[in-house]
Amino acid sequence: MTLLDRAVVTLLPAVPKPVVRKLSARYIAGPTLDDARRVVTVLNAEGKLATVDVLGEEVSRDSEAAAIAAEYVAALDAFERDDLDANVSVKPTGLGLKLDYDLCKRNVEAVIAAAEPTNRFVRIDMEDSSTTDDTLRLCRELRDEGHARVGPVLQASLKRTVSDAASLAGASVRLCKGIYVEPEPIQFRDDQEVRVSFVQTLETLLDGGCYAAIATHDEWLIDRSLRLLRERGVARDRYEFQMLLGVRPELGDRLVESGHRLRIYVPYGRQWYEYSLRRLQENPKIAGYVAGDLGRSVFRRR
Ligand SMILES: Cc1cc2nc3c(=O)[nH]c(=O)nc-3n(C[C@H](O)[C@H](O)[C@H](O)COP(=O)(O)OP(=O)(O)OC[C@H]3O[C@@H](n4cnc5c(N)ncnc54)[C@H](O)[C@@H]3O)c2cc1C
Repeated sequence: MTLLDRAVVTLLPAVPKPVVRKLSARYIAGPTLDDARRVVTVLNAEGKLATVDVLGEEVSRDSEAAAIAAEYVAALDAFERDDLDANVSVKPTGLGLKLDYDLCKRNVEAVIAAAEPTNRFVRIDMEDSSTTDDTLRLCRELRDEGHARVGPVLQASLKRTVSDAASLAGASVRLCKGIYVEPEPIQFRDDQEVRVSFVQTLETLLDGGCYAAIATHDEWLIDRSLRLLRERGVARDRYEFQMLLGVRPELGDRLVESGHRLRIYVPYGRQWYEYSLRRLQENPKIAGYVAGDLGRSVFRRR
């Protein structure tokens, strides 16, 4: 990122919400379940799978967490009715983790109860480091209680991650770089260190017989992962690549054309703001993007 892009990232929370909404439209299916169904239908037709995220983070009341769980249940029912190839990704804080661990677990169990009869997977997203231990515990307990189609996310930027990967033998694990900025002692800050950690974690997951969901748009990492998978002779049904809706679709198309499984993360819902900020902050061309849009709205007003 250029210095200008970095400056715009810092200022992004001050950009008016309607501008943020417009700029981030490509990262989000839309406000409703129908929007998600429409987007997943198109992705499936292109040979891509989906994992759907109901937008909404840390809640302050039990009823809000229950409402998010109910929306996931409705989404899973709709995927089955429409014969869509989609599973779900849930955020523990959206399902009440910061209110009460057991409440969160009951909500995740409600989602699993809707997913399991149709063999759909429930991915538990990883949030900031204050939630890592509880999220891994939740996944471990659910798996120990017999729910095989549940799995966590590991963040390569955390220094603990290789050792966490070693404790997850046999699980299905999504591996990503990690989006949250954490205190220096627990997080790699250097891009190359994060990449090295990503590759080491992937090796550890494969050593442990895990199903690896490789979630990145970093071409260097995709190439390294492909090489590793080839060298180890990992069968194509033992891994998949994952990407975010609206990010580097051409790279995803190349993977699909080469016969690799690709799953797209499809967020939908009315609580679009926090997710949008995170995606925009990662866009390496953010300065031009914001300037262009603000510029256009200024010119239109004349
Ligand atoms: C399917 C999926 C699920 C994820 N789940 C989690 C999770 O549970 N917890 C978590 O902490 N993080 C999660 N992430 C986010 C992840 O940690 C990274 O923040 C994000 O994927 C960017 O990292 P990268 O590996 O693509 O590498 P980067 O180096 O950030 O990006 C590589 C290249 O991709 C392009 N790019 C990346 N982001 C954008 C963007 N927003 N707009 C335009 N171009 C872009 C740029 O060309 C960039 O140079 C997930 C990511 C994916 C793909």
